[in-house]
Amino acid sequence: MQKEKTSEEATNATSTLFTVPCFDKQWILQTNEAEKINDYVCLICRQIANNALELNCPQHEDADELLIVGDQCLKQFLKENRNSCPIGSHEGCQYSKSRPLQKYIGDLTVMCLKQFEQELRKEKEEEIPGINKCDFKGKLKEIKDHLDKSCPLSVINCWFKPFGCNYICHRHNLDKHLIANMKFHFGLVIQSFQSMTQTIQLHQVYFFHFFLKKTLQVIQNKNKKRMKAIN
Ligand SMILES: [Zn+2]
Ligand SMILES: [Zn+2]
Ligand SMILES: [Zn+2]
Ligand SMILES: [Zn+2]
Repeated sequence: MQKEKTSEEATNATSTLFTVPCFDKQWILQTNEAEKINDYVCLICRQIANNALELNCPQHEDADELLIVGDQCLKQFLKENRNSCPIGSHEGCQYSKSRPLQKYIGDLTVMCLKQFEQELRKEKEEEIPGINKCDFKGKLKEIKDHLDKSCPLSVINCWFKPFGCNYICHRHNLDKHLIANMKFHFGLVIQSFQSMTQTIQLHQVYFFHFFLKKTLQVIQNKNKKRMKAIN
């Protein structure tokens, strides 16, 4: 179910004129006043500029407002429009990186993107049961790290994927899966031992070491949790 969704999203993204690499405005508006962010909208995709660049072609010298575009949006636009400027389509578009602008946008407070997506789904009554909440609130520049490393709503692969376990789950459910499927995972590792006909011993040592390390990690995590519960 989860997987179908992602591939569907991917097709939607490629079918639009531009894939949009800037930040979703609706998402940023959850924690920021409109007037605080309206000046930072990418002129090309109308979302909040990611890696903001400022257009400074002499043709727009008289413009009242900053002319802001997201780095990827502009590069894609130039590629698809023979280097003509997104404003007035003149030749020789000039732009520069704006550090203060990038810092301002990077420091905007945002909620967890996955949590936002989940709430959107709820509105469409497509709630997936058994998923808890993510209360993350932090700077925009920290969101990638949060999603990659700590968001409980992020979907991750089982540690034993290299051995053939295709289980996918939310981060907070992985421990349960690892503990409940130790035998299954061990079997997978043994199978890879046996199917490697041209193995050299070093490989075997590596795989065995991998299995031991992961198993120990689970046990250690479990112990840590238990100690916490006791204290
Ligand atoms: Zn953009
Ligand atoms: Zn221009
Ligand atoms: Zn999160
Ligand atoms: Zn697994």
